[in-house]
Amino acid sequence: MNDPGGFDYDLIILGGGSGGLAGAFRAAEHGARVALLEPGELGGTCVNAGCVPKKAMWLAADLAARIDIAARLGFDVPESTTLDWREFIVDRQRYISNIHESYRKRLDEAGVTLVPQRGVLLDAHTVRAGGTRLRAPHILLATGSHPVRPDVPGAELGGVSDDFFNWCEAPARVALLGGGYISAELAGVLQVLGTRAEIFARSGRLLQQMDSDVVNQLQDNYRHLGVGLHLEYNVREVQRDGDGLVLVDSAGEKTGPFDQLVFAIGRRANTAGIGLEEAGVQLADDGAIRVDGYQNTTAEGVYAVGDVTGQLTLTPVAIAAARRLMDRVFGGKAGSRLDYDNVPFVVFSHPPLGGIGLTEEQARKQHGDAVKVYRSTFRPMLHALADTPLRSLFKLVCVGPDQRVVGIHAFGEAADEILQGFAVALKRGITLDDLHDTVAIHPTSAEEFVLMR
Ligand code: NDP
Repeated sequence: MNDPGGFDYDLIILGGGSGGLAGAFRAAEHGARVALLEPGELGGTCVNAGCVPKKAMWLAADLAARIDIAARLGFDVPESTTLDWREFIVDRQRYISNIHESYRKRLDEAGVTLVPQRGVLLDAHTVRAGGTRLRAPHILLATGSHPVRPDVPGAELGGVSDDFFNWCEAPARVALLGGGYISAELAGVLQVLGTRAEIFARSGRLLQQMDSDVVNQLQDNYRHLGVGLHLEYNVREVQRDGDGLVLVDSAGEKTGPFDQLVFAIGRRANTAGIGLEEAGVQLADDGAIRVDGYQNTTAEGVYAVGDVTGQLTLTPVAIAAARRLMDRVFGGKAGSRLDYDNVPFVVFSHPPLGGIGLTEEQARKQHGDAVKVYRSTFRPMLHALADTPLRSLFKLVCVGPDQRVVGIHAFGEAADEILQGFAVALKRGITLDDLHDTVAIHPTSAEEFVLMR
């Protein structure tokens, strides 16, 4: 033991994904002795089977769409411009390997001990890692989540998003079950890259928690692209038909065959087999770790961030929560905590859809008739030039006599890049007048937000 309290470290972290790494770096900055336990690749879901490889595939699809536009606009584009997946994946994985390397180097420089083992809590201050026991007064749980499969016969025949990242060529026809983030994103990527993508969602529209106007525009654009949308679809069974897979709905009707089937029906917290009971860490009803507003679990000195808490399961949220937690525990900032309100999000659909704040539906529920909505539907200049049917929809949700902006929503080209700055503005409590007082940047899509009236 290295110190009088019998502790080997000040902080032990289980999980080297977005939350765990952010916590390790920030705690080390504050001078804490940190051990980070990660049996797999550094970076977790985001780097290895999520945001990063997904954005790479999205960028490839975006290029494909632009090549198509270039051909419409007079560029001499060869007839076949299909993507060689194998070649692209080599570049994608090289990029990811560089991230791993950079994390290893940064951990080393920060003096964080990387333990390539799975950690199991023996009590609230002791972790077993392989054959050794490590002790610390503080433990951070950042073990992430995993995709779930539906409980229907034949579910083992389909894959999940992790499997998508192992594909080395474009399948001809793909079914995506679920109407959330992953289905919307993968359907766009696949369809634009030449696959016939079909989404099967049990609800009446995709992305139920997002503003219905922007989602409706996304659905219209997906129909134009040729994405199959099967809404209010309830799967009863998955069957194999020769080389393909067939979905059977609740009425017994079959759709298919598909070359691949991806289940994208949400994720579940990774809480099994890490000694939570032994440490006195309780779970919430959804199976995630129960935390308070400061990321404290029910065991003193044990904290949790990221997907394992089930709170707004987005990478930047895990990072922000971990940094604030470490500022509180080791940085002397007693009140430091993440404000989970007004967190911006983007779905990397084609084109992207994102927003911040209240949807129109939520605002009307909270503020009734005090809500005023402004919308702009337009064709971005490149698409107007190329005469494609793609339309963008930008929307503001305002409340009260001073027209405080409580929601900003966008579906369209560059929405992903535009929204970050507007998220700062909304968080600062701007009004519609503040937007009108800002001179437009012309000609852009972003200017719509300061011109809407
Ligand atoms: P989502 O939570 O986004 O969507 C799940 C979808 O599956 C919903 O349409 C839901 O329907 C449906 N569903 C749930 N259970 C069943 C079931 N038993 N049978 C049929 N349909 C079902 O999950 P995803 O898997 O798409 O993504 C997982 C998470 O990963 C996201 O929630 C997000 O946190 C994160 N993510 C973030 C991204 C980003 O920030 N760009 C990109 C990709 C993932 P209903 O609406 O009716 O409940």
